[in-house]
Amino acid sequence: MHDSHCHIQDEPLMSNIADVIDLFVKNNGKHILVQGTDLVDFADAFSIAERFNKLYPRLIQTAIGLHPSYFQEITVDKGITDNLYEISQKAIDKYNKYFADKCNDISAIGETGLDYYGLDREEYTEELVEQFKEIQKISLRNQLRLAKRHMLPLSLHVRGDKSCVKDALRLIAEEGDGLLRGSFHSYTGDIGLVEDILDIGFCIGFNAIITYKSGQIVRDIIKKVPVDRILFETDAPFLPPQSVRKNKHIKEKFSQPYDVKEIIQTSADVLGMNPVYLEDNADDNYNRVFLS
Ligand SMILES: [Zn+2]
Repeated sequence: MHDSHCHIQDEPLMSNIADVIDLFVKNNGKHILVQGTDLVDFADAFSIAERFNKLYPRLIQTAIGLHPSYFQEITVDKGITDNLYEISQKAIDKYNKYFADKCNDISAIGETGLDYYGLDREEYTEELVEQFKEIQKISLRNQLRLAKRHMLPLSLHVRGDKSCVKDALRLIAEEGDGLLRGSFHSYTGDIGLVEDILDIGFCIGFNAIITYKSGQIVRDIIKKVPVDRILFETDAPFLPPQSVRKNKHIKEKFSQPYDVKEIIQTSADVLGMNPVYLEDNADDNYNRVFLS
């Protein structure tokens, strides 16, 4: 099995990292793609990869990207509402510099994408929302160009209404020339656009939302995705699987790469498929997209 999208450099995983990796490997875990989301957590992602790849060659791949919500974190979340473009461009420039130094050590670009859902806040003016959408698009376009130039796959976070998914698809079409590949991670968007995502050559990443009572949309989506386009992920430490969520004895609820096991089992049940067959196929997809 593989985990194509997680944040094991985040707490509480980082403090328990040896146990987290051990449990995954002991359960036939083969690959983990760690996502860097901002300029702060990249170094931790690299240090985990370096440490554990010495023990288990090619266990951990590293992705670095600028998360679309990062631009709010460095501005409005700190009370800054002026010069948003300048501040954001500086962050993008910094990312590009970091990327240039590290591009030979990474397996993918991510986590990047568009998040219009997170812009739906009462205190945001319409003008502010439009500015952030524009900034998110500038940043995504920049990372799509890097992906194409360096032939790197992408882990995309695309969260919002139809217009958000359509904007992402349009940018991929404009910048990719049909050459870009990767994952629409944790896709919970419009089911009618799943076909468009598959048409541009991307896979879809499924996590523990599929195990939730509220996850019917994802159970419907996976039925529309051919087995050669399915990837599994946890988004750990977020989104603990249903078995952890409903367990009253577990006080601190979080997910970890091992939880892919439950996600595969639920997905296999939904699809009426043998879980081993599904796991093997999904692993092949991971190898093709992120390791070749
Ligand atoms: Zn994530």
